[in-house]
Amino acid sequence: MPTTAEAYHHEGPDRYESLDAATTVLLEALRPRRGRRRSLPDMRWMARARCRGLDPDIFHPPDEADAGEAKEICAACPVREACLEFAIELREKDGVWGGLTADERRRLIRRRRRRAQAAARRAEAGIAMR
Ligand code: SF4
Repeated sequence: MPTTAEAYHHEGPDRYESLDAATTVLLEALRPRRGRRRSLPDMRWMARARCRGLDPDIFHPPDEADAGEAKEICAACPVREACLEFAIELREKDGVWGGLTADERRRLIRRRRRRAQAAARRAEAGIAMR
């Protein structure tokens, strides 16, 4: 089942009856998670999304192994990186964003975290040696 962010993302604001309805959907998608305050992210990239107007269910396969069709569409999308970073920032737990499934995004986040921790340790060690 697509989240509100996914529905907005794929179907676009035109799907909604009014600007107010579209805004309500967006605000729901962007509500603070875990008490974190967030500023409104740049969403202009969505206007160039290759998935615009497609059935959101393509991007919500029943199983991650069935994400091939979505990944093919994403592979040729001009805003793939922005889409992926948006999903990571929002901690989107479902669906294919930026060509990655939810499990793949979780692995990417863990890899990035490990890299950042290693860089911090190296920086600390460098400072300690001076
Ligand atoms: S990368 Fe995929 S999910 Fe993201 S905007 Fe492009 S086509 Fe849509």
